This record gives sequence, C-alpha cells and structure tokens, in this order.
Amino acid sequence: MHNGQRGLDEWQVIVVGAGNAGLCAGIAAMQAGATSVAVLEAAPKELRGGNSSLTKTMRFSWRGREFMAGLLRESDRGRVDEILAGRSEYTDEQYLEDWLRISGDQVDVALIESIIRRSNGTIAWMRDFGQRWAPRPKPLPGDVPVVLDGGGESMQHRNFTEFERLGGTVLYDSTVTGFGRTADGRFLLRGPGTAFPLFADALVLASAGFEANSRMRVRHLGEQWRDVKLRGVPFNDGGPLAAAIEFGADTAGSWAECHATPQGMTLPDYMLPGQMHKSHGLARYAFPWGVVVNREGRRFFDESGEYSNLSYVTLGQQIMNQPGRIAFQVFDHKVVESGVLPDGYLGDPDAVIAHSIEEGARRLGIDAENLVAEVQRLNSDGNDSIPGERGETTRTPKRLDTPPFLFVPVVSGLTFTYGGLSVTTGAEVRGGGEPISGLYAAGVIVGGLYHHGYPGGTGLMAGAVLGRAAGTAAAEHAIRTGGTNGAGNIAG
Ligand SMILES: Cc1cc2nc3c(=O)[nH]c(=O)nc-3n(C[C@H](O)[C@H](O)[C@H](O)COP(=O)(O)OP(=O)(O)OC[C@H]3O[C@@H](n4cnc5c(N)ncnc54)[C@H](O)[C@@H]3O)c2cc1C
Repeated sequence: MHNGQRGLDEWQVIVVGAGNAGLCAGIAAMQAGATSVAVLEAAPKELRGGNSSLTKTMRFSWRGREFMAGLLRESDRGRVDEILAGRSEYTDEQYLEDWLRISGDQVDVALIESIIRRSNGTIAWMRDFGQRWAPRPKPLPGDVPVVLDGGGESMQHRNFTEFERLGGTVLYDSTVTGFGRTADGRFLLRGPGTAFPLFADALVLASAGFEANSRMRVRHLGEQWRDVKLRGVPFNDGGPLAAAIEFGADTAGSWAECHATPQGMTLPDYMLPGQMHKSHGLARYAFPWGVVVNREGRRFFDESGEYSNLSYVTLGQQIMNQPGRIAFQVFDHKVVESGVLPDGYLGDPDAVIAHSIEEGARRLGIDAENLVAEVQRLNSDGNDSIPGERGETTRTPKRLDTPPFLFVPVVSGLTFTYGGLSVTTGAEVRGGGEPISGLYAAGVIVGGLYHHGYPGGTGLMAGAVLGRAAGTAAAEHAIRTGGTNGAGNIAG
C-alpha cells in the first residue's frame, strides 16, 4: 500500500468510487501534489469499472479540425476531414442551449455553464494522460463526431492505468457505509471489513446515485420503480450519498426523476463491467424511424420531435407510465431495408415480423383495432408524421405503409438517479449553504444537473470536469491542512 509515511489506514485524499469521476479525481489529486491517494471501490477487482465502463460518448465543446485530430488514434488522424464531414465546431452556447432545452428549468444553471466552459479543457487533459477517441458512425447534431476509443471499458482501463502509474492506490471490496469527522478535523470512513476505519485529510465522494437501491427508488421515484431493471452495476446503492446527507450535506436536483432509456426485453436485472458490448446491443434508440405505441395501441410520445440523442431519456421515462410498463417500436420494410436500424434491432429475439399491422398487434398483445386506426390516421395525414431524425434524411419513409412490419417490444432500463448533493462549481459539497471544509463530490452523486430529459454524453463530461476539480482541490486542502491534522499526517 502506497501512502507515504502515514499509518496504513491514513491517507491525504480518499476518493469513494472508482468510476470515471472518481478516477479523474484520483489522477488530478496525484497531479496536484498529493502523495497518498486511495480510491475505495465497493466492487471486487474483476468487476471494477462502474457504470462508466459501459459507456461510449462524451459531449464537449470543440472548435477546429486540429483539436479533433489530436483526440484521434494515430491511425485515424489522416481521416479527420472525412470524420468531421463539414462540421467545424460545437460551441459553449450551442451546448448550453441543448442542455437547458432538454433538461428542464429546475437545474443549477451556473454549475452547468461552468462544466460546459471547462469541457474542452478537460478533454484535452484526458487526452494528455492517454485517452483516445475514434470516429463516430452517423453523428447527430450535438453529437461530437467521435466516441471513446474502445468505449467506456477502454476509457476506464486507461483511467486506472494512469492513476496507478502516478502512484495512486485502489482498494477493492471496500464499501463505504458512513463517515464522520475526528476531533482533529480529518474524515473517518466506516465500512465492513478489517480495512476500516480509514482516515483522510480530504474526502471526494464519487459513488454515483441510488439507482441500485430499491428502497430508495421507491421512496424518491415511486412504487413503479421498485423492480425496474438496471442498465448499470448493482453496486451504486446510494450509501455514501445517504451518509453525506446524515453528515450535514445539502441536497440538490430532482429527486423524483431519473435517467431511463428504452431497452430490449432481454435486459437482465443489472449489468456488470465487461458487458459493454452486450449493453450497447440492448439500446433501442432508433425510434424516430418508426412509431412508438403502448399496449393499448396508442402513441404517447413524439418520436421525431427532437433528435434521439436528446429525447431517448424522455421516452424511457414515459414507458414507465404506460400499461404494463412496456412499449412497442414499429417500423415498416422501407426502414428495415434502408439499414438505419442498429444490429440489436434485427437480432432481437423478442421482435416480431408481421405481414400486417393487425397481425403484429395480435401476436404481441397490443390492441389491434386501436393500432390499425392509429396507423391509418398517420398514413392519411399526408404530413411528415414519421420523418426520422427531425426529417433530416431523405432515405426515411413518411408513412408506415410497406409490409412486412417489424415490431420491437421495449422496456425501460434505469441508468442513474438525478437527485444528489449540492456542490459549488469547485466541486465543494455544501452544508447549510456553505462549502464543507475538505469534502468534495463528483459524478452522478452530484444533484442539480438534470430535471426532465438528459442530453447524451453529459454524464461522463460532468463527472470528468468536477472529478478533476474535486481531486485538485482535495489535494490542495490535504497539503494545506495535513501537517496540522494529527501525528500520522505528514504531507509529502
Ligand atoms: C449502460 C450505460 C451506458 C451509459 N452511457 C453513457 C455515455 O455514453 N455517456 C455518458 O456521458 N454517460 C453514460 N452513462 C451514464 C454514466 O454512467 C455516467 O455518466 C457516468 O459513468 C457516471 O460516472 P460516475 O463515476 O459518477 O459513476 P460510476 O461509473 O457508476 O462509478 C461509481 C463507482 O462507485 C462505486 N461505489 C458505489 N457505492 C460505493 C460505496 N458505498 N463504496 C465504495 N464504492 C462504491 C461503484 O462500484 C462504481 O464503481 C451510461 C450509463 C450506463 C449504465
């Protein structure tokens, strides 16, 4: 164990949670001069990575081909013009407009603005310690035209590698259940097992939300979320979030809402690190190319009112309010043939191909009469009722009129919860409206970022920006106060 001249249980900085936010905090703390930094992770080593390891994209402001070329793998740099396909920037202003339009008005605008302003610099920082990006197939407006090279799984591998290269320590099987302060102002962390208690001069909470805690879900989100399937890991049970509130931290954000998206029916109860490809194959985000109906055969959502990268969460939330908490995405042959549907749709074992709308409805237990009437109405409207991604492509049909039809049943998968801790733009956790000395938070545990919908790629970005800020500030705090915090704390 690498913690300088301290006792084995004493650290300058402890970070709780080894997701992207926690590891960015750990890396930044080491870079800022801390010499003993531990990241405590609930999962065993073989299941490390958190929800971050199941991801793919980050949304950041950018300008110019040089910047984008610098993010790419060596082998793709020569293709930068082809990858950008005429795009030259995504400005802070566009980013803020997208975020606020989608996420509703009860958000911390100052915090969001400051995250956006630092997004480009934070991506450059990640690039400098080894992160790489790859071309993104078919980017939508707002989508950065690159995705993480190797997805979240590789991103997390690179995060762990850098943190350990700098001398940081990851302690696995280390679930934090509570924390308090010692008489000399340090943090004392509690948990099961002989490693606890642990002591730290500064503490960063990065253990995500309460998505995996059924009791907390029922309490805050409502009864219908009790048995919802998780798109992510079973470790994010909100323990450190509840402990922080007990400690006196202020809360922020929309506690009654969460990020949930349409998924194939075979989504298991939860996913684990190592299942990124399976997870990506279960996403059902091609809904703008068809219609979405409930079991009563009624549409309940404007499929192409927004780009799908901005509206997929709104659809996931609304599925939970439909009869049986199920919905059906229906496409006609023109769409299937055009190749716009991802492979997951075509290989979905629960999908049904039917020669008529009525047949498909009957086979899946949808009210056939209503659905036939709904589709007839759409087809006879003569308007762009099924225009695809905001009507931007000419290959999409305007009508659901060419059999056979593909029916894809979908459920809602919970990604993460919105309610969390109140933090300053410097990632300091507030208590009674003021920063609590030495306590920081980053990632999904932070509240105030989302109210209704969620713009894709912002979760990782917010986690990286605030993780970096939290780690830097925690190291500075530990270096400043460490010498006065008891005999074991010799800041190095
Ligand atoms: C399938 C899927 C795909 C996603 N795709 C994207 C995407 O492409 N882009 C995007 O921006 N966002 C995406 N998200 C959302 C994404 O998870 C978050 O934006 C981001 O990864 C959150 O990072 P985090 O570090 O806060 O949480 P996590 O990565 O979940 O890390 C939290 C860590 O804390 C640990 N932990 C929890 N409780 C404790 C405890 N008591 N003690 C110690 N450790 C604990 C967990 O084991 C975990 O390792 C996706 C989520 C899922 C589930």
